[in-house]
Amino acid sequence: MTDVGDVGKVYLVGAGPGDPGLLTLKGRACLEHADLILYDGLVNPLVLRFSSAHAERTCRSPGPSGRVLDQDEINNRLIAAARTGQTVVRLKGGDPFIFGRGSEEAAALADAGIPFEVVPGITAATAACEYAGISLTRRGIASEVAFITGHEEPAKGETTVDYENLAAFPGTLVFYMGLHRLEAIVDSLLAAGKAPETPACVISRGSLPDQRTVLAALCDLPAQVRQSELRPPSLIIVGECVRQRETIDWFERLPLFGKRIGITRPAGQTESAILRTLELGAQPILIPTIRISPPQDWTAVDAMLERLGEFDWLIFTSANGVNGLLNRLWANGDDVRRLSSLKLAAIGPATADALAHFHLRADVVPESYRAEALADALIPHVADQRLLWARADRGRDVLPNRLQQAGATLEQVVVYRNRDVETLPESEARMLETGTIDWIGLSSPSIARGLKRLLTPAALAHITAGTVRLAAISPVTSTAAKEAGLPIAAEATTYTWEGIFETIVSAEHA
Ligand code: SAH
Repeated sequence: MTDVGDVGKVYLVGAGPGDPGLLTLKGRACLEHADLILYDGLVNPLVLRFSSAHAERTCRSPGPSGRVLDQDEINNRLIAAARTGQTVVRLKGGDPFIFGRGSEEAAALADAGIPFEVVPGITAATAACEYAGISLTRRGIASEVAFITGHEEPAKGETTVDYENLAAFPGTLVFYMGLHRLEAIVDSLLAAGKAPETPACVISRGSLPDQRTVLAALCDLPAQVRQSELRPPSLIIVGECVRQRETIDWFERLPLFGKRIGITRPAGQTESAILRTLELGAQPILIPTIRISPPQDWTAVDAMLERLGEFDWLIFTSANGVNGLLNRLWANGDDVRRLSSLKLAAIGPATADALAHFHLRADVVPESYRAEALADALIPHVADQRLLWARADRGRDVLPNRLQQAGATLEQVVVYRNRDVETLPESEARMLETGTIDWIGLSSPSIARGLKRLLTPAALAHITAGTVRLAAISPVTSTAAKEAGLPIAAEATTYTWEGIFETIVSAEHA
């Protein structure tokens, strides 16, 4: 979108409170079109997967990650980037204008004559309460809501929040940024006459898999919270509406709530597993162990595509093989009609699914997901037939050996490369090292071996001890994992990622 010379545009976008599924469609479209993203500390980095733009985290105080930029520096970055013609997304936790300084950024842009738009986000108060089973308003219980800052500008000296008024307010009170001042807030409310037994709670990390809710009568809340070691960010909610949680709490009851699930699929192939993990209330941790890339050059593939008519069967042993071959066919200006005279074989359901995405149905899918079974399933059909196998640049040679023995002619074409990932991002590596992942799904033998390679002795010890458990997609993957020295705690009965989730859910609820 860069068009140097013209002024670009800045989008002030709300990323939502934590659950990455709560980004709006408009917010996602902005991310897809951005050249530069500046995001703040509350934004869940998983929403960045919708963008290929350069993304930088900004922090106003020093911390483990992100660059420390004060508000003027952020404003200046936005203005300068827009002046070079870039489309800039300023991504902020929750809603950009609710206690988010978004309006100060907008004012600075307006001052500088930079075009901008504001994309609302779901603010923490509504999201955290709804994920905790609390409706901020309810007929007969609360007809009003107040959003209040619990963090006064220390420089102001005196408070602008009128606690007399708040104590008399008949609706729900929601304090943002107040956890570190919980005691002072509660004392001020009680001193101003709020009933000590008013139901209240603190919701920490609302809408995230490590959400926690501490409920107490207002006067007991500070003591309860002190014992709970809650992590930021947190909200304080005061009012009768808090009681609804007893009946309409739902998020913390999801089947894998609070679990961390390691997803080992290669980058670019994680979307459905991420969505499923979130649906189950768990946190997806991306641990790719192999990297899939196109062949170094396409000459051999293109030559083979020209010769497709010479074959009777096309054989696929991975979804990557299907995508590699068929996307190339399409890129060359051709389409699936070139396959009309070919029979299709897929090694398992995930490969068959990849074919289905091209509206192709596999003629043969063996019962068990392994090269031996695929060869056995094919043998009755292939004597004197010509077969083409679309494969990775590395892998086992079971198929060619068995099929050639059975009298078939098998040719091979490498349609993608399969490489080892050498290092993981720091935070994922740390989780492995400290054993703070609950389950890791393994979806192929090479992924299992890849995981073993990435493990430090400390990380391996957590797996051996069973603190971190491994779930394999199929018996072949289990065997490969065990051969690599990795114990398997659960094995899928359906050989797909959905099957991995099913086996994890049943192991957790056994
Ligand atoms: N613009 C944001 C708020 C920024 S102020 C929004 O609309 O949500 C930061 C405060 O928001 C935190 O101190 C905390 O009180 C609250 N907050 C943000 N995310 C939260 C979450 N996931 N759970 C609980 N509180 C959250």
